[in-house]
Amino acid sequence: MDREDKPMPTRPARREGASPLAELVDALMEDAATAVLIVASDGSLIRHNDAAPRLFGLSTAAMSRATGSDLLRTVVAGEDLLGDAQRAVRTEREAVLATAKAGDIPVRVRSHRLGDPPIVLVTIEDMTQTRRTQQDLRRHERLATLGQLSAGVAHEIRNPLAGIGTSAQVLLRRFEAGDERARFVQVILDEVARLDRIVSSLLQYARPRTPELRPSLLADCVQRVVALSAEMTIKAEVQVEVVAAPKLAHLWIDPDLVQQVLLNTTLNAVQAMPEGGTLRIEVRKVRHKRPPRGPGRRAEDLSGERARDESGWIEYQQIRISDTGVGIPKGVLAKLFDPFFTTKATGTGLGLSISQTIMQEHGGSIAVDSREGRGTTVLIDFPLEKRHGSRRQRDTSGDGAESAHRR
Ligand code: ADP
Ligand code: MG
Repeated sequence: MDREDKPMPTRPARREGASPLAELVDALMEDAATAVLIVASDGSLIRHNDAAPRLFGLSTAAMSRATGSDLLRTVVAGEDLLGDAQRAVRTEREAVLATAKAGDIPVRVRSHRLGDPPIVLVTIEDMTQTRRTQQDLRRHERLATLGQLSAGVAHEIRNPLAGIGTSAQVLLRRFEAGDERARFVQVILDEVARLDRIVSSLLQYARPRTPELRPSLLADCVQRVVALSAEMTIKAEVQVEVVAAPKLAHLWIDPDLVQQVLLNTTLNAVQAMPEGGTLRIEVRKVRHKRPPRGPGRRAEDLSGERARDESGWIEYQQIRISDTGVGIPKGVLAKLFDPFFTTKATGTGLGLSISQTIMQEHGGSIAVDSREGRGTTVLIDFPLEKRHGSRRQRDTSGDGAESAHRR
């Protein structure tokens, strides 16, 4: 630290003749992701790094007008972070800063007092992300419990349901042809069949079968699903476009499960286009700096051995399914992957939950991006990586990797 008495300028450019130590301190300050403030004994701000105005949502000019006590105001009346920092050699605590421009920010504040009259070095770590991760974890725990509970209930329902179904079948055969009572029994049978589908989905959500991986092409899975859903898309007046990048490598996947994900997604897309529209399915290679996060991306996605290229990017093959349908309101996006969340009268709300489980089993992820009234895009990513004892397959294509559109 500079031993001069005059305050250092608030953001020094490279200082003429500055000592190597001072330069080192400058470099450290600027590299820190944490906001750093240096506050004089009268509470004025001597210096800050670039991360500080970012945290507070202030321009550099506004930052230079701010004082230490302004910046360190918390939501708790009477709490005096700066005063405490000036009274102790070191402090560390969590607090919620009340900022003018960036709202309330949960932070971890550390301070070091130096010299006499004392100046304090304050570092402020933004805990917003950490809190969110903790909330995510709690939510996943809750969903896991819900899954177990559902599996138990589903098992209990399955047997009586089979009993009702068989009895109704027997009853139906007892009626003479043309007996109008048969109609009612048929309703029972149809409803039993519907319940059975729900119960099967539930069981699949709660106890997904282990994927049986074999080298397969994503483009083949797409073709099969397009063929399977042809009747439905024609009836719904939905135009289907498939674009697959050439020469993509085989991936170690369970093609049946992957087709199930694609079928779920296709069905959702078609249902979102009651007036018809366009369904576009693309298969391509993408790369991300870090495993994708966001709705549908879970913390577990961060684990696993990733195939990184020379510059540290992680490579994926991606299926991108876009529709021109009704879209999803912003507030709803976060709930899509919750089991039983549905906006449809006869939906189970399990399609995306099951798809998510399947993608996690593959070490991949599924995410949804949407604009209300415009349409929805579902991104399904498969990492090129070693998993479940599978051999890693490398793309043979030379096409340049592109980065996916992220929310
Ligand atoms: P379900 O289809 O049984 O409702 P899903 O888990 O498949 O259950 O989907 C949950 C909800 O997500 C749907 O009810 C719908 O509101 C929304 N959704 C999913 N995909 C789309 C899409 N392509 N366009 C608009 N909304 C969608
Ligand atoms: Mg669905």
